[in-house]
Amino acid sequence: QHLRDGGLVAFPTETVYGLAANALSEEAVAKIFAIKKRPAFDPLIVHISDLEQKKQVISDWPPLADYLAQRFWPGPLTMVLPKLASLNPLITAGLDTVGLRMPAHPVARQLIDKCGFPLAAPSANKFTGISPTTAEHVRAAFGDAVPVIDGGPCQVGIESTVVAIDGDRLTLLRPGMVTLGELEQVSAGQG
Ligand code: AMP
Ligand code: MG
Repeated sequence: QHLRDGGLVAFPTETVYGLAANALSEEAVAKIFAIKKRPAFDPLIVHISDLEQKKQVISDWPPLADYLAQRFWPGPLTMVLPKLASLNPLITAGLDTVGLRMPAHPVARQLIDKCGFPLAAPSANKFTGISPTTAEHVRAAFGDAVPVIDGGPCQVGIESTVVAIDGDRLTLLRPGMVTLGELEQVSAGQG
C-alpha cells in the first residue's frame, strides 16, 4: 500500500537490498533520487516479476533477450533495452534505453506481484555508499525514513550483471555473477 501511495520501500533481492518506487509514478521515482542524493545522470533499473510486465517498460524484445531471459531470469542479470516512449525519463537519466531485471528472491517477486506495477529500484544506500546486503545495513543508511522488508542476508551479495542488448548483439556494461562467457554461450546458440 505504501508503494501504491507513492512511498519508498526497501526490499531484499538476491543481489543486494533495493530501494523501490512505483516505476510508473514520476513523483515516487523522484523520491529515490532525493533520499539517496543520487545524481540525475545515473539511471535506475526497473524490476518485474513476470514477462508480461515488460510491456510497461520496454518497446522492443529481440530474440536474444528472450533467450537470455529463458536462461538467466529470474536472476542477477539486468538487460538494457529500448525503452517505451512513455516511460518516465527520470528512470533512464534521459537515455532511450532502460535496464530491466526479473529478480529471483521470493520476497521481491511477491512484492512486485502484489503491487501489479514494475518497481524502479537502485541499491538501498546513499550515493557512493556500499550496497546493503542486510536489512540492518539499510536501516543504518536511512534510519526510520524508509520501511525495510527484512528478507535476511542477500545470497549473491554483489550487484546484478548489466548487459546491453542491440538486436542480436550484446555488450557487457557491468560485471556480476552472470559472466560474459555464459552470456556469449547463449548468444552464440541463438537461432
Ligand atoms: P544500481 O545502482 O545497482 O541500481 O544499478 C544502476 C546501474 O545500472 C547504473 O548505474 C548503470 O550502470 C546501469 N544502467 C541502468 N540503466 C542503464 C541504461 N539504460 N544504460 C546503461 N546502463 C544502465
Ligand atoms: Mg547502487
